[in-house]
Amino acid sequence: MNLFSGFKGILKGTVKFSDVQKYSLLTVCIASVHIMLIFVFLYIGSLPMTVYNVFSAAGYFLCLKPVKKKSFMKVYIYTCIEVMLHSVLAVYMAGWNFGFSMYLIAIIPIGFDMAFALDDTVKGIRTAVCFGVLSFATLVICREYSYYFEPVYAVKNEGFVRGVYIFNVMCTCALLILYSYIFAAEIMIAQLDLEKNNKKLDSLASIDALTGLYNRRKMNTILSSAVKNNITFSVIMSDIDNFKGVNDTYGHACGDEVLKMVSEIVAGCLPEEDTVCRWGGEEFLMLSCRPIDEAADIAEKIRAAVESRRLSFDGKDISVTLTLGVSEFTSTSTMDSVITAADKKLYKGKNSGKNCVVK
Ligand code: GH3
Ligand code: MG
Ligand code: MG
Repeated sequence: MNLFSGFKGILKGTVKFSDVQKYSLLTVCIASVHIMLIFVFLYIGSLPMTVYNVFSAAGYFLCLKPVKKKSFMKVYIYTCIEVMLHSVLAVYMAGWNFGFSMYLIAIIPIGFDMAFALDDTVKGIRTAVCFGVLSFATLVICREYSYYFEPVYAVKNEGFVRGVYIFNVMCTCALLILYSYIFAAEIMIAQLDLEKNNKKLDSLASIDALTGLYNRRKMNTILSSAVKNNITFSVIMSDIDNFKGVNDTYGHACGDEVLKMVSEIVAGCLPEEDTVCRWGGEEFLMLSCRPIDEAADIAEKIRAAVESRRLSFDGKDISVTLTLGVSEFTSTSTMDSVITAADKKLYKGKNSGKNCVVK
């Protein structure tokens, strides 16, 4: 994978930088800048700054170990102190015009980004604020100092000064762009993950774990929107007959299998646009987008299908029946009244011998 497709992947959310990879990259980038500065200070003729840059480059390479161990805070503090010290010494030795103090700006956002890689984000943000203020103060001090004092090494070659200035500004901007880019991509990925997880949670909160049907909570929202949109619909309330007997005779596990079997039958018999939920223990509520007569026909189809199905459990053949009550939503109905009406029809069916449809 080349660098370009890698960055394209980051934006698409298919490539994810780990914190260790991200800060290793940063550490290597800063070390590389220091290696280049070794040659700049060699040209200027400042031996102390040349040696300083050799040691700081080596220091960054040594930082790769704590980065690997996720000691990001230690590496960040080292970076801040090193950049501030470098800025002060470089302005003292070579002057302000080279732009060595630009790096003080680059370390500010990196501190805030690093805070999110820590277990204690609040402590990370506090540290980033402290070093942000210190960086700003160092920048102002360096600028003010350069107004009043000449640098130790006066460089006559203006083209060289301008070239180094452009190099320093370029490195600062590259660091800022790189980290802003990665930070933006991380936020985007986190947002996509959050949306995905919210959808997952929403679906988990809407589904009955045993049967896989919608639960009562979800059905209530579906019913409310049907009422709000004033569409023609009917409600079918159904209840497994003598279900307690199934549990008592064959055990609760068998009762669960019966519930799953009935759920499958009901869902399979319903037209696609209709909805079913597990309303309670062994009660299923259906919303049929049709007038009561057609809904009653569907209810009858379900009743017959349940009656004819056998469940084989532990070598035994088990069958159950279903009683169903059907009501229609009218202009005078409310959500509660249409459900209560279906419930009443269901109990009428229970009282008249069960295994029937009452509309
Ligand atoms: P009726 O014909 O009048 O509806 O009688 P019934 O025995 O079906 O009704 P009853 O309300 O007395 O019993 C319902 C039973 O459903 C009682 C309860 O233990 C059982 N039940 C409720 N939820 C579950 C479940 O998730 N799994 C199992 N196995 N049983 C359940
Ligand atoms: Mg019941
Ligand atoms: Mg029952």
